Amino acid sequence: MPNTNTEFKYKAREALKDEQLQQALVGVKQGLVNNRLDAIKVVPEFESFRNDAAAVKQHVLENLDLYLEEFEENAISSGAIVHWAKTAEDARQIILDICKQNNAKNIIKGKSMVSEEIRLNEALKNNGLDVVETDLGEYIVQLADEPPSHIIMPCIHKTLSQITQLFRKNHTDIHKADKNYSVADIVNEAREVMRRKFLSADIGIIGANFLIAETGSIVLVTNEGNGDLCSCLPKTQIITTSIEKVLPTLDDASLLLKVLARSATGQQITSYNTLLTGPKQDNDKDGPEEMHIVLVDNGRSKMLKTELREMLRCIRCGACLNHCPVYGSVGGHAYNSVYPGPMGSILSPAIEGLEKYYDLPNACTLNGRCESVCPVKIPLTKILRHLRNEQFKKRLNNKSTRFSLKLWSFFATRPKLYHRFNSLFINALNIYINILNRCSAIPVFSSWLKSRDFAPSQQKTFQQIWQSRKEND
Ligand code: SF4
Repeated sequence: MPNTNTEFKYKAREALKDEQLQQALVGVKQGLVNNRLDAIKVVPEFESFRNDAAAVKQHVLENLDLYLEEFEENAISSGAIVHWAKTAEDARQIILDICKQNNAKNIIKGKSMVSEEIRLNEALKNNGLDVVETDLGEYIVQLADEPPSHIIMPCIHKTLSQITQLFRKNHTDIHKADKNYSVADIVNEAREVMRRKFLSADIGIIGANFLIAETGSIVLVTNEGNGDLCSCLPKTQIITTSIEKVLPTLDDASLLLKVLARSATGQQITSYNTLLTGPKQDNDKDGPEEMHIVLVDNGRSKMLKTELREMLRCIRCGACLNHCPVYGSVGGHAYNSVYPGPMGSILSPAIEGLEKYYDLPNACTLNGRCESVCPVKIPLTKILRHLRNEQFKKRLNNKSTRFSLKLWSFFATRPKLYHRFNSLFINALNIYINILNRCSAIPVFSSWLKSRDFAPSQQKTFQQIWQSRKEND
């Protein structure tokens, strides 16, 4: 098995050969990208929403302590219990203690990337608790015993026939084996299984999209309504979320919601936008009797002091994944981290260490498509370049990469020599291309050259062409 530092390359090669995965990824590359374009086309002020959203999130990062304290105070006055978890381990322990105090056995969960980050399901299962994911995509990957491969569509890598087989294997009491399953059949079968789970659950665990400082409320956004059932049916509710989700006011949340849905799935608005403020009150007909909010830091306070801080503006819309040619080719599992794609290539090394996720900042062509669609304008390529620089400084690159970078730096810091070398290189390249085009029998190039020629070079370097154009203008 390859070690973590070479795992991305190994898994990416495997993913490229996986025909079913490639078929499933077409939906990301075409469907989601087009949906976003259609959704923003009808909102001329979308660009100004992005600027405002980025400014609000940046302002929060610069005053995070103040807004978190305000949130805590207001959440407590509404009856919630607020817990602070410095590490993933602390968060797991807090949640396990709440389960123990409530003699809980059955847990239902809404989708929460923070709970994936702290590896909550594993901890709950290891402590004898029955935990069921209720977001359909999360439920499917839970049955398959796989991690999510996308932050908003966890089972995007699976085809309908794979999901049908999975249901056939796991729902032996209700599955209609003689039938070709449609998407509606999958949804109905999952609904039947989950209904029983919802009704027998002791605790519901959900995430939060935003925390509102001025009211102490939680904003939860889902398309299936499962988050609302998780939060309202069981007697005890636990919200697991990270500290950077706080926003000053409800108006700020309204702005962020406008960019979130359009960037994520191309919807004008997500189906269910729920505001939760404290547990059930005396005059409420239903709702949880206890509400616990677990605020997870897990390295984020440290990130605030580094060049990675702007990454904490992320609202987990997934647009950067949908537009990334690398993610679109290899899918999320190749990244071998909770957060895949461009945002994951920054967040995972930031949270768990550059040494562990050495490969991820390099799994990028720096084409910039991700940041051109990011609703909160995170300079993803700038941060990825910074991480690469850090790798070089920490001597994490292998010897041949270090040698190549040093060689390049030698020429790049001597402009005259660099231009001279480039001119010589262009001439040599032409000779080389001529030889290659005539030698299609060379095994290593034969498949490539069977159907195409290498285009001849322009005989001049980019700088020479640019210079002569400037002189002619
Ligand atoms: S980095 Fe930007 S585009 Fe990517 S998930 Fe976060 S908010 Fe969305």
